[in-house]
Amino acid sequence: MENVNDVIYTLDMEGRFTYVSPVLEQFSGYKTSDLIGRNFVEFIHPDDLPALVESFSRTARGEIEPFEFRIFDRDGSVRYIRTSSRLIVKGGAVTGIGAVMTDITERKRVEEELKNYREQLEELVKVRTAQLESANMKLTQEVEERRRAEEELRASEVKHLTVLEASTDAIFLETLDGRILDCNNAACDMYGYTKEELLARGVADLLPEEYAAGLPDTVASEIEKGSFFAEVYNRRKDGSVFPCEVSTRVVVIEGLKLVVAFIRDITERKSAQERLREAAEDLARSNAELERFAYVVSHDLQQPLTTAGAYIRRLDKRFGDQLDADAGRYVRVAIDEVSQMERMIKGLLDYSRIGIRDGGRAPVDCENALSTALGNLRADIKAGNASVTRDPMPRISASELHIIQLFQNLIGNAIKFRGEEPPRVHVSAQRSGGGWLFSIRDNGIGIEAGDTERIFQIFERIAGGREYSGTGIGLSICKNIVERHNGRIWAESKPGDGSIFYFTIPDE
Ligand code: ADP
Repeated sequence: MENVNDVIYTLDMEGRFTYVSPVLEQFSGYKTSDLIGRNFVEFIHPDDLPALVESFSRTARGEIEPFEFRIFDRDGSVRYIRTSSRLIVKGGAVTGIGAVMTDITERKRVEEELKNYREQLEELVKVRTAQLESANMKLTQEVEERRRAEEELRASEVKHLTVLEASTDAIFLETLDGRILDCNNAACDMYGYTKEELLARGVADLLPEEYAAGLPDTVASEIEKGSFFAEVYNRRKDGSVFPCEVSTRVVVIEGLKLVVAFIRDITERKSAQERLREAAEDLARSNAELERFAYVVSHDLQQPLTTAGAYIRRLDKRFGDQLDADAGRYVRVAIDEVSQMERMIKGLLDYSRIGIRDGGRAPVDCENALSTALGNLRADIKAGNASVTRDPMPRISASELHIIQLFQNLIGNAIKFRGEEPPRVHVSAQRSGGGWLFSIRDNGIGIEAGDTERIFQIFERIAGGREYSGTGIGLSICKNIVERHNGRIWAESKPGDGSIFYFTIPDE
């Protein structure tokens, strides 16, 4: 059934309107008279034409099938039309097409709106889905991060626990007023309490009796300031007291200021230190006794030796020309040996006097000390045709007599152990570490590598040096002096290339 607004129209075989019902004017603005005789095609939207032609040809084949297309109204606006048409047959011949058109513009608009609305809805759904997806992803990520953080926390807790328990130091977590909140097993072992007992007690229970009322205020305030380190005594459950090293750190846990205390039992170290101190004292005592003994012996030996020497020399002087060749040789050997013995006794006396002449450290101008030593060696320098050069010398804190003796012994040796060439000696000094490094370089016979340490022992002389006079005491005196100043002495040499003797005098 067509509705009342449906327009009935007929077209001739050429497509020209032959009839249009007047209702058309209501919606398209066209009057029937405007259309009769004009071609239907003129009013069709060009995009819909091919499909319309196709539809008419289907009508021509006898098919009746509604078809939708657009037409232009009189004012040019587009209108949607639905039409179904059939052939008009008169007297057995087809004379045209009769059709009904319905205005479906409103329906189309609603459809279009619905479509737009649906599209908007779909777009919205898409956006929301995307938002949800990204929120979900973020959430998953956060959950994952949280899980990882929790795992790390657990791992670090385990690590801390392991570190705490692996420590041989006792470790306590305490409040500032001395309550114990936690401790490791080492703490239980060190103090002889169970963990429960320790947690029920306070720091005051671990201190010796005199601190039972608590730590002195000075210590407490130092602990609270951040860190504290001291050697103190602590008390075990059985009342015994032991030396320990305490160090503390203040940590803030959940807004609460707490103290972590590390306690190391230093009983072993203390007793080792004590043993070392006793050994050093013993050594110093026996050294002093030895020096006293050497001094007394050399001093007491000097007297009879001088007398014996004097008598042999007198014998030689008075009766020398009456002795036969053998007796004359015996007397000369005896004189040589007594002279050597006298030098050795004098050397021993010098050695044992080092301690006695040690006036302690005082400012020493090494320029002067070196000049004095060279003055004492004037005769040897002249006799050996030696030249001694020097760098500027520092002022140091030392025993002056000792420094003069050091220079004198080392420069004296540098001239004495000469080679073919006239001796050339150079003395220098430079800052090194926390003190001064002195060196005495010569162009003498040099020393075999294997002998450079031995020569500092008392009475040690080396085979090559036998043809040079000496007692083997000079370098041991040097070593004794340098060590009294907490320094070190050593030699570097290559036979034939001369030697360099080094010694250090650390600052006081
Ligand atoms: P002495 O000089 O009385 O022999 P020292 O203790 O002074 O005793 O020296 C020990 C030994 O070291 C010497 O006998 C000598 O062999 C060697 N010596 C010391 N100084 C030098 C030097 N400057 N060059 C070569 N050898 C040296």
